[in-house]
This record gives sequence, C-alpha cells and structure tokens, in this order.
Amino acid sequence: SQVVTADYVSSNVRFEDCPSDGLPEFALVGRSNVGKSSLLNSLVRRKRLALTSKKPGKTQCINHFRVNDSWYLVDLPGYGYAAAPQELRTDWDKFTKDYFLNRSTLVAVFLLIDASIPAKKIDLEYASWLGQNQIPMTLIFTKCDKRKKMKNGGKRPEENVEVFQELIRGYFQTAPPWIMTSSVTNQGRDEILLHIAQLRNY
Ligand code: GDP
Repeated sequence: SQVVTADYVSSNVRFEDCPSDGLPEFALVGRSNVGKSSLLNSLVRRKRLALTSKKPGKTQCINHFRVNDSWYLVDLPGYGYAAAPQELRTDWDKFTKDYFLNRSTLVAVFLLIDASIPAKKIDLEYASWLGQNQIPMTLIFTKCDKRKKMKNGGKRPEENVEVFQELIRGYFQTAPPWIMTSSVTNQGRDEILLHIAQLRNY
C-alpha cells in the first residue's frame, strides 16, 4: 500500500460536479490548523500537491486527488476558522455536509483531531453529526509527537485521544476506527494507507 502516483484532479463546491468515474474516495476534514495539509503531503510524499496555503480557510473547495489511478483522496475545507465571515462558514458547512450525505463513492470520512490539546466542542459536534448521520468515519489524531506542554498541566496525546473517544461513544453503534499520527515523525502514515487498502477491499 504505497502511493506511486498522486494527481490533482479538480476543485468543486457542489458534490454533483465532482469526478464521475466512480472510483472510491476518502475525505479528510478537520479544524483549521489541525495539520491536514501536512498529513496529506506526508501521505503522498509530494510537497506541493495539497495546494498548501498558509492562510487558514483558503482552501474552500472539495479538492480531488487521484492516487495510483485507483482511488481519491479528497481534501475538504477546514472548519472552525474564526476569522472567516459567518456567511462563508455556513456555506462551507452546507456543501461539505451535502457532500457527506450524497456522495455515493465516499467510502469513509477521515476526521482529523489534534491530539496535542484537549477535545474541542466543535470537533465533538462534528464527530457526533457524522455518527448521527451514520457516515463511516475514521478518527485520525494528529500532532501525536507534541508533548512539551505536559509539564504545565497539559495531557499526553494518549490521554486526549482516550477522552475524545469516551466523549463521542454515545453517538456510534460501534466505536469508530482510529489512528494516531504525526507529520513530523510520519507516525501512522503506513497505517492510514493500509487502512485505506482494507476499506477498498470490502
Ligand atoms: P491545516 O490548516 O490543517 O492544513 O494545518 P497545517 O498542515 O498547515 O499545520 C498547521 C500547523 O501545525 C503548522 O504550523 C504545522 O507545522 C503544524 N503541524 C502539522 N502537523 C504537525 C505534526 O504532526 N506535529 C507537529 N508538532 N506539528 C504539526
């Protein structure tokens, strides 16, 4: 399960306009600054692929990348960017949720959660929405290498991960799969690719 080729295909706002070749897809979503671009780039090992923009909230589309000519990685706009106008935020919310609810080739949503900080309300809301709507979700915990705040009463990534899972338990019939990652050490990279390979073989 290696990424041999990864090609940018398109950016759309409406799910109806997304690629129609029927290849299975996996969508990455998370709060702005969660480490989504870093993870995407570490997954495909191509630095400029993700159209990385240093301005949070700039990637406002459903972005399709075709991997090995056989599946898509889909980069979705980050949520919870406070500086974005409310009107815009509501718009993202609507089209990403439309996409989740209606995109028939979507195999799973990878919800990115920052493991270096305690659970955030907006992340819990997002996870519970996916659970309540029975959209297959895998939790991808990011920044698991970050431990420096422990001395100031912060929790270890492992503890934050455990608490987050406990808090969303009630919204899922079975606990969602989860993977701990770091784009600094590449922890979890192979595990994500293996997970995708397994989901594709169902
Ligand atoms: P995005 O807004 O979700 O695309 O987040 P970015 O990938 O741009 O990352 C946001 C910030 O977190 C940047 O300063 C990154 O260097 C940092 N970051 C991202 N991933 C990691 C990680 O795995 N470990 C650490 N320590 N920092 C990370």
